[in-house]
Amino acid sequence: MSKYLDSRFLQLEPYTPGEQLRSRKLIKLNTNESPFPPSPLVREAVQREIDALNLYPDITGGALPAGLARRFGVEAENVFLGNGSDEILAFIFQALCKNGVAFADISYGFYPVYAKLYGVSAEVIPLREDFRLAVEDYAGVGKTIVVANPNAPTGLALARREVEELLASNRENLVVIDEAYVDFGAESSVPLLEKYENLLVAGTFSKSRSLAGGRLGYALASRELIAGLERIRYSFNPYNINQMTLAAATAALCDEDYFRSCRDKIIETREKSIKQLTELGFLCTNSKANFIFTRHKTQPAKALYGKLKAQDILVRWFDLPRIRDYLRITVGANGEMDALLLALEKIVNAEGAKPDENG
Ligand code: PMP
Repeated sequence: MSKYLDSRFLQLEPYTPGEQLRSRKLIKLNTNESPFPPSPLVREAVQREIDALNLYPDITGGALPAGLARRFGVEAENVFLGNGSDEILAFIFQALCKNGVAFADISYGFYPVYAKLYGVSAEVIPLREDFRLAVEDYAGVGKTIVVANPNAPTGLALARREVEELLASNRENLVVIDEAYVDFGAESSVPLLEKYENLLVAGTFSKSRSLAGGRLGYALASRELIAGLERIRYSFNPYNINQMTLAAATAALCDEDYFRSCRDKIIETREKSIKQLTELGFLCTNSKANFIFTRHKTQPAKALYGKLKAQDILVRWFDLPRIRDYLRITVGANGEMDALLLALEKIVNAEGAKPDENG
C-alpha cells in the first residue's frame, strides 16, 4: 500500500463486486442486472444529448425529479437523485447515521463497507434461523436502521405492515428501506411516506429499468431529509448524474409498458426456474427479487459455482458465514436459464452417479 494513503483506510475492506468479464461469451447471472436492454426510447433520448456534452449536466435533474414524484405520488421536493443507489446509501451512512447504524448480518454487502468508510458504529442484527428479518429485533435500537426489502441475497421480503411496525417502534430514528428489487413482487413502502417522517425509501433504475450501466438511483423522503442529502451532494459533486443518464432515465420512466413487460417476464422466469431447480434437488427461498437464492441438498455451492464457471456460466457464491452453502442466481432471459438448468442437471446427475467413496 502506498505510504501516502491515510492510515485510517488501511483497515478498510472494500466491497467485492461480482465479476464483470465482458470479453468472453458468458451467461452472466452474477450481478442482478436485467437480461433485457433498456427501453427503445432510451436510445433516442441518449442520442439527442450527445451534441450537448460540452455543457455540464442539469444540476436539478431536469424533468426527472418531477417524473419520479408523479409516479410515486409525492412532490419533486421529496425526490433526490444519486449516481446509482449506492451513492445515496453512501450519503446516508455519511450524514444520516449520527447515532450509528443497524442492519442485518446477511444483507447488502455495501452496508458494512460504508459504515467502516465513514466511521459509523454498526450494530449487526442477525436474521432468524430461516433468514427471516424479525422487525421486533429492531425495536428501540436507537440508531438509523437500514433494511433491504426484498433483502439481498436472500430475496425474502417484508410486508408493508411489518415495515410500518419498524417505523412505528423507532419513531426517533431514521429507517431506510432499500427497494432496489421491490418491483419484482414485494410491497413498496412508498405509501408510508405520508405518515412517517422517519422513513427514507431508496430505489434504483439498475434492475427493473435495465439501466445498471447508466447509474441512476433515487431517494424519496421528507423535504427536510432530501435537503440534508442535497447539502452533501453540493459539498461533494453537484454534477453527480451525467446528462445522458438523466435523459436515459427520464425516457425509461415514460415507457411503462416496456417496464411492465420486462418485469413480468423476469417474474415468470423466476417462478419457472425455481420449480425446475426444486426438481433437481435444490432448495430455494421464496424470492421476490430478480434473483434466486438456493442450495442443493447434497452438492456444495462452491463446487457448483466452479463447475458452472468452467462452462462460462457465472453465478454468485459468497464465502461468508451462514450462506456458504448457497448460490445467488440472477434471473436471466429464458434461454440463459435453460442453459443454466441443463448444466446443473448434468452436474447433479454426474455427481449422483458417482460410486460412494466408502464403498
Ligand atoms: N441495494 C441493494 C440491496 C443492491 O443489491 C444493490 C445492487 N448491487 C444496490 C442497492 C445498488 O444498486 P445501484 O447502485 O446500481 O443502484
